[in-house]
Amino acid sequence: MRIYDYVIVGGGTAGSVLASRLSENPSASVLLIEAGPADGPEAMHDPARWLDLQGSGIDWSFETVPQPGSGGSRIAYPRGKVLGGSSAINAMVHLRGHHSSYDAWAAAGAAGWGYTDLLPFLMRSETTAGRDPEVRGTSGPMRLIQLEPGPDATLMRDIREATHAAGFPLTDDPNGRQQEGAGWLDMTIHDGRRQSAADAYLEPNLARRNLTLLSDALVTRLDITEGRCRGVHYVRHGEPGYVAAESEVVLAAGAIGSPQLLMVSGVGPARQLRPLDIDVVADLPGVGANLQDHPMTSVLFQASEAALPTVRGGYAAMVALLHSGAGSGGPDIQLAAQNIRYTSSALDAPADAYTISVSVVTPDSRGSVRLAASDLTVPPLIDPGYLTEERDVRRILAGVEIARTIGADSSLKRWNDGELFPGAARDPRSLADYVRRSLQTFYHPVGTCRIGVDAGAVVDVELRVRGVAGLRVADASVMPSIVSANTNAAVLAIAERAAELIG
Ligand SMILES: Cc1cc2nc3c(=O)[nH]c(=O)nc-3n(C[C@H](O)[C@H](O)[C@H](O)COP(=O)(O)OP(=O)(O)OC[C@H]3O[C@@H](n4cnc5c(N)ncnc54)[C@H](O)[C@@H]3O)c2cc1C
Repeated sequence: MRIYDYVIVGGGTAGSVLASRLSENPSASVLLIEAGPADGPEAMHDPARWLDLQGSGIDWSFETVPQPGSGGSRIAYPRGKVLGGSSAINAMVHLRGHHSSYDAWAAAGAAGWGYTDLLPFLMRSETTAGRDPEVRGTSGPMRLIQLEPGPDATLMRDIREATHAAGFPLTDDPNGRQQEGAGWLDMTIHDGRRQSAADAYLEPNLARRNLTLLSDALVTRLDITEGRCRGVHYVRHGEPGYVAAESEVVLAAGAIGSPQLLMVSGVGPARQLRPLDIDVVADLPGVGANLQDHPMTSVLFQASEAALPTVRGGYAAMVALLHSGAGSGGPDIQLAAQNIRYTSSALDAPADAYTISVSVVTPDSRGSVRLAASDLTVPPLIDPGYLTEERDVRRILAGVEIARTIGADSSLKRWNDGELFPGAARDPRSLADYVRRSLQTFYHPVGTCRIGVDAGAVVDVELRVRGVAGLRVADASVMPSIVSANTNAAVLAIAERAAELIG
């Protein structure tokens, strides 16, 4: 039997950080198990081709259960299945979100997880140039580029100015001291290539003698005996296998994979597990609950002749974290200006369009991940519950109005021949219909194994699974509530802090 000090399940964003940091101690043996392959197709490395990866061999290709918020349709739910995980197929945006997102965690009982607690870990993960070194990292593994467009990219510059003209602040660095306002994105791109967490953290360290990678190995069950997690069962190329953990097993299988693996192993809501004939090891009702994600819709503009040369590429340039006016607390909507048509395939939108997408980044709606079967190879039931809370509907509609106001600014007249979508829809009912028809996600599931001290919490403030020794969770699933930004940067910081707690 093979025995390691630490067995890390899932080589995605968090797993890559954990494996790299824990193996810095030469006397600790570390095994990283990943369901997908060690590398993916060339498109994985080419930033402009990120959309080609959806539905590919390195995507779990999940879908949601029918969503009332999208008129009852199912929404595609890609997750990375390759070393690097979702950071290997994502849109490469690197944003922390507003500091109030993290302070909400601490206020909800996650002591030690507020913004000032996490700032050293956010900084430790990144290398930036020309940013404020008091709040931005200068020597971390993830090397970032700033996506400030060149002087010829006046469409994006004019959208940013129009956002300001509409009464919203500008920021020089949305990851810096002022996170609210319109600014330019940081991206996880280096030398023109995607930089996944595996590229940044693992690849340089894979030669370490105390770090072992087992790719193409699907973990099917945790071995929990007498209240302690002792190892994991997996299947690799059709053959069953087992590895033992001397010190502990760390789950980093993501916001879908981690709760699914816990539940098939008997850790979860007893009322859901017993009907599936799963022996309950720990009755934790919070496992799989509290799923949160960012619902998104788009305002599309017909590109004018003048704009056509810039309507290409593949990722957003300008981002704005704003108050919609329909919520309380921190900024609650994110606008992203993109020089491409970026919308639901349910809309018949022409290719020569550009987009301002609108996302609710502090949703009140909550969903769940539940088992469809006791067998891990059966995809779970993913229900993000988009727009099930009325306040989120108000927020997204307010965001659409803001995007339309910005898009109609006189400075943008030369760039577009009018608004395509929502277009003629003006009254609240038609706009709500439009939002349902065009609803998408930014693919940011979190919260399904949340940190806390109450009965619904899954892990304690040191990320230990309640009621099971030798087992932690450290990935997007532990967020008590979603951060008001794309989630990868926060997951890097969670894993950095987890490594410090564990090592
Ligand atoms: C299409 C898309 C676009 C996105 N765009 C952005 C963006 O631009 N910016 C941003 O900040 N965030 C973005 N995100 C979200 C971001 O990438 C995730 O929040 C982050 O990667 C989550 O990290 P994680 O470690 O929790 O999970 P993941 O990175 O998903 O890692 C989980 C890993 O565990 C493995 N695994 C799961 N189950 C098992 C099992 N049973 N056995 C073995 N291995 C298993 C998976 O294969 C995967 O490699 C995007 C996500 C997607 C899917």
